[in-house]
This record gives sequence, structure tokens and C-alpha cells, in this order.
Amino acid sequence: MDNIVALAKRRGFIFQSSEIYGGLNGFFDYGPLGSELKKNIRDCWWDDMVRRRDDVVGIETSIIMHPKVWEASGHVAGFTDPLVDCKVSKQRFRADQLFFAPVVVEGKTVGYVSALESENTAGELQAAAETFKRKKAIQGQLLPVQPRDMTEAQPDEVAQIPSPATGEPGSLTPPRAFNMMFETNVGAMRDASSVAYLRPETAQGMFVDFKNVVDTGRVKLPFGIAQVGKSFRNEITPRNFIFRSREFEQMEMEYFIHPEADWLACHEEWLKWCQDWLVSIGLPASHLSLHEHPKAKLAFYSRRTVDIMFRYPFGVQELWGIAARSDYDLKQHQQHSGVPQIYFDEATKQKVVPHVIEPAVGVDRILLAVLCAGYAEEEVKDEKGNVEKRTVLRLSPRIAPVKVAVLPLLKNKELLVARARELYGRLKRKYAVFYDDGGAIGRRYRRQDEIGTPWCVTIDFETIEKDGTFTLRERDSMQQKRITEAELFALLDEKVY
Ligand code: ATP
Repeated sequence: MDNIVALAKRRGFIFQSSEIYGGLNGFFDYGPLGSELKKNIRDCWWDDMVRRRDDVVGIETSIIMHPKVWEASGHVAGFTDPLVDCKVSKQRFRADQLFFAPVVVEGKTVGYVSALESENTAGELQAAAETFKRKKAIQGQLLPVQPRDMTEAQPDEVAQIPSPATGEPGSLTPPRAFNMMFETNVGAMRDASSVAYLRPETAQGMFVDFKNVVDTGRVKLPFGIAQVGKSFRNEITPRNFIFRSREFEQMEMEYFIHPEADWLACHEEWLKWCQDWLVSIGLPASHLSLHEHPKAKLAFYSRRTVDIMFRYPFGVQELWGIAARSDYDLKQHQQHSGVPQIYFDEATKQKVVPHVIEPAVGVDRILLAVLCAGYAEEEVKDEKGNVEKRTVLRLSPRIAPVKVAVLPLLKNKELLVARARELYGRLKRKYAVFYDDGGAIGRRYRRQDEIGTPWCVTIDFETIEKDGTFTLRERDSMQQKRITEAELFALLDEKVY
């Protein structure tokens, strides 16, 4: 992971926000290559989800909405994470990410150990329990630890659990609900009447505009409303680089279906669509898995939620949530606004409140996944047969920030440069292209490998003296072949869509 973070900074993908002021935890900036990569992910999603489908339309709603939206949606009362304070260090932890276990020797609890969630929480707790027993010189058989998280701690246990910040018990508070919405004020008055929120999800925009889209959009059930945009959550512990941040971007779609439609089949279809889409932008299927939310942990209105999980270097984590949300949201808005959220079904002449299937994904999490899956360090042979290291980002041509690099073999040969500039100009009208004439050709290839450019074309003496063909060098195989300009455009047309 450290190598990926270092590459992201070195090559201008991702910077810490406000870095010259020491940064701001949970906020990030995207540099020249990162913003291209992010735009390509967003554009691919929009093209496949909205433009290439007949049953989904797109919208763009405001980030700050009427505060009643968030009362109706349940966010004001319930968009909370359980928070635990350490009174000594003043650090705050998410209770469901802070694990503890009693240290049990010869059937007797002799103390407690704690650890923050990691890939190996149980192993860390076991090691901490052994250290605890050794330091206190307790004799007897230590039982294997039984980890629980702080939301499950009994009141009498809280005082005995050591804080991960200090290693000592006595400073942790019992968990309390912490609302993650960022508050602001709208207008010149700063009082309770002007409080508004930065949206914690884009989805409510689709519900609140449902009637507007139905009345103006010529949509027929089943149909979807999609949007891409920023969301904000005051996460207690932002972590794992851009995986969990406080400002992030979501791509969400609400697919409205008839209340009597086969919602489970529809849910399955979207689950498959989302996995296929991730593979289409280059994520290996082997890194993806599914997590079915247990019935007992589902929100009361949810019929089923399945997350598509991705194997990040820091563990298998949620990438995309696909939820069957019944008619909960539309009914809530109907009740709170007093405006019927009704669809008139021509076929059955019925007025219905549709149900919804919601695939919701974060752009930043996808971007991190493609960086993690694509990053490789390899040993390769240069032209002279010497072994050298190359860093390569295997990004799909669909999302690579630069599609092709144009390289004149020598920078002081006018004819080569003129031909290269000409090609560069023509390619640039359609694609993100990079022109590079600096340094040995092998070095220039390496620079492109590192930023994920799928192809390099070199304009050499054969180009100007013989048949006009270029050398096309492919990033992953490092194979080279001669290619005409028409063939190059055909290749790009096929692979970049
Ligand atoms: P988590 O359990 O990881 O907090 P969630 O279940 O609360 O996520 P949703 O509310 O379902 O997430 O949001 C939909 C998607 O938005 C997530 O699958 C994820 O890709 C993205 N997302 C949510 N929170 C964040 C965040 N803090 N930073 C980056 N992306 C996020």
C-alpha cells in the first residue's frame, strides 16, 4: 500500500488536501493524472449506466437540500456511527472498529486487552493477552481470546478495557451515537432556523425529484434515475488513504419498479450488472466477492442488501452496495412533504408508489481499487539484456489517464519531430495523448508504464524514409510491432469506449 500511495503522490494522481498547511484529515486532492483517471471512471459509468440504456435517465441535484429532506429520510435521527472517546488522549474511535477481549486464565477473567480493527484483529488480541499474562506473571492456562467490538461491551466491562491510545484502562467512555452529517447555515442568520446539511449521500436527490422526472421525462416503469456527485460524511476515523474520507464522490442509481414486480430478480440483475461493469473497467474478477447482509442486521425497510467487496491490500472491504429499499424513501417524502409520490401505471390503470433497487458506489473507492489491482513491480530485461526493475500500472484503456504517448525517436531530427507533432495533433482531438521527446526511448517507455499508458508510438526513421508506419509498443506485454496510422486509430476506437 505504501508504494501505491508514494506513486500516487510522485506522479500527480493524489495529494493530501491543503498539504502546505499540514493537510486536513479525511480530505484529498486529485492531481493532473488523478483527475483524468477519476473523470474517465465517472464518464464510463455515466455512458454505460445512463446514455447506453433506454431505461435510465440522469440528473444533477444540489448538495445542500431543504433540511426536511434529511428528517424525512431518517438521516437527522439515525445517520450515526457509535463513538467511543478516550478521555485521556482525547482520541475518538468508532466503537465497531475497536475490539476487545477478556484475558481468561484457568477459567477466570484476569483483565482485558484491546486492538483497533485490522486484517488480523484476533491475532493481535491473542498476542496482547499473552503479553498481559506474562507481564503480570500470572500462572496457568490462557484460553484463546474471544474478540468482541465496543458496541457489545457490558457497562461493567467498559472501565476495564484499555484505550488503544494509552494502553491503560479507565479512560474509555461507553459508545454513544455520533451524527455524521456536516452542518452549515444558509443565509445571513446563524441560528437553529438556518441549519442545513451537506448531503451525506446523493440518493435523496433522486427521491425528491422523482415526481419532476416522472412528469417531464417520459419514463415508464421500470426505470432508473442516476446521479454522480460529491457527498460528505464526518467520519470518526477516516483511513486507508482515500478509501474512507470525509468528502467523496458517489455514483448512485435508483431503479424504480412496480410494487408487484419480481424485486428479487431485479436485485440479482443489478448485482450482476455491477460486477460485470467493474470487470469492464479492468478490475480482476478474482479480487471481487459478495457479502450478503444478514437479515437480522438489515434496516427495517430493506428487503435485501448485498455488497460487492474488493480485495484491497488492507483487507476485503465494501466497494459497491446493492440494496432493495422497498417503497420506504418515496413514502417518507410523501408523508413529510404532503405531495403524493405516485406513478400512474397505464397498463393496469393503477396509481402506485414504486419500490426501488439501489446500486450505490464511491468513485474514490473504485479509483483506489484500480490503482491497487493495477500496480506491479517487475524485473525485466532492457535492450542490452540487463535486468532492471519496472513499475507498471495495468489500467484498462477505458480509464487510463493517457491513452497513448507519441515519441519521436530523436528530438533533434526535424523530420521525425514534425511527423510526431502532426500525429500528436490529430490524436489529441479525440484522446488524451502525451508527447514526450526527452531522454532515451527505454526511459520514456518506463515513465509511461508507471502512469498506466496502454500504448506508446515511436516515430522513427522507417516512418519517414520507408512506409510511414510507426512502432507500437504495448505496455503489458512490452511487445512492439509496426502499425499504420489508420490501424492505430482503429485500435483506439475499439479499446477506448
Ligand atoms: P461503509 O460501511 O464502508 O461506511 P456504507 O455502507 O455506509 O459504507 P453507503 O452509504 O452504502 O456506504 O454508500 C455507498 C457507497 O459510497 C459505498 O459502497 C462506498 O463505495 C461509498 N462510500 C461510503 N462512505 C464513503 C467514505 N467515507 N469514503 C469514500 N467512499 C465512501
